[in-house]
Amino acid sequence: MKNVAIVGCGTYMDQGYGCPGEWRCLKAAALGEGKFEEPSSVISFIKCECPGRTVVPAIGMAAKLSEIKPDLIFLSSCFANAKPACPYTSPEDMAAIIQDKTGIEVVLGTHEYH
Ligand code: SF4
Repeated sequence: MKNVAIVGCGTYMDQGYGCPGEWRCLKAAALGEGKFEEPSSVISFIKCECPGRTVVPAIGMAAKLSEIKPDLIFLSSCFANAKPACPYTSPEDMAAIIQDKTGIEVVLGTHEYH
């Protein structure tokens, strides 16, 4: 079982209807559905906050405090497939930044539930 961190769009999490963090990302991880290739343990759920500069430090802090380095980092589906798009960054750019700073592979999206 892999240990994974999930990064959600904080604006959507705070203001959206049916936000991440309630069940979709967690169910997909638990069952190995959607973008999860196997049942995975979510060891941190990080909230991006505009303009996105806190994501990398928050991932680092979560790994430090939990004493578990994630095997993979996922950008939640609400982050990766946002419509309208995030005005600050593209999912691809954010994934590249996270991957560059942490050395951990980043997957775009988590689930395909509605
Ligand atoms: S920077 Fe983009 S992805 Fe991050 S919280 Fe703001 S709108 Fe969402």
